[in-house]
Amino acid sequence: MSGLTASCACGAVTVSVPRRPDYITDCNCSLCTKLGTTWVYYAPEDVIVDENGLDSFVRSDLAEAYLRTFRCATCGCVTHWRLIRPYEPPRAGVNAQLFEPGALDGIEIRQVDGRSW
Ligand SMILES: [Zn+2]
Repeated sequence: MSGLTASCACGAVTVSVPRRPDYITDCNCSLCTKLGTTWVYYAPEDVIVDENGLDSFVRSDLAEAYLRTFRCATCGCVTHWRLIRPYEPPRAGVNAQLFEPGALDGIEIRQVDGRSW
């Protein structure tokens, strides 16, 4: 299988991964809901980001935030996240909404009840 590339709306940020994901995570926590994101996970080194300007965000409403979300500084699309503290297994997330239409067809969508954590 060849890799996949996700792109923000304006194309300034692309995120490449080596293969189709095993599943798509649809989380109902307040952050994912407000960002409008669903996620696919990979080993951190498998997520290759080519960017021309990123903003980032770490939520401050949790005692221990685990990740930093990144967005395109031009068009504002949230593109990916990276861990900011140790987690097993190590991983990084890519916004599943940013792949080409149909690229993730047939992949299982897992609902995650992040709001209850
Ligand atoms: Zn953009």
